[in-house]
Amino acid sequence: MKVEDKLALNKFEVDREVHIRVDEQICDRCEPKDCLYVCPAECYVIRDGHVTFSYEGCLECGSCRFSCDRGAITWVNPRGGFGICYQYG
Ligand code: SF4
Ligand code: SF4
Repeated sequence: MKVEDKLALNKFEVDREVHIRVDEQICDRCEPKDCLYVCPAECYVIRDGHVTFSYEGCLECGSCRFSCDRGAITWVNPRGGFGICYQYG
C-alpha cells in the first residue's frame, strides 16, 4: 500500500484553533528549510517564494518541531477531540 493510500485512511477533525504557528519572517531568513523535507503530510510548501504552512492535514508527528532549530515553530497538541484519528476505516 502506498503512503498516499495509507494517509487516505486517516480522519481529521479540524479544529478552528491553530495548533502550530510558524513565524514566516524567520523562515524567510532560513536557508536549509528542513521543514519542507521532514513533514510527511507536506504541510509546508513554498508559495510565491515564501514558506507557507497549513495545519489542517497535520499528522501530529512532531518532526517539524524538532527539525526547526531557529525557533520559528510554536507547536502544541490540538484540543481534545480534534486532530487526526489514525487508521479510520
Ligand atoms: S526550518 Fe524552521 S525557520 Fe526554516 S523554513 Fe522551516 S519553519 Fe521556517
Ligand atoms: S507535526 Fe508532522 S505532520 Fe504536522 S506539520 Fe509537523 S511535520 Fe508535518
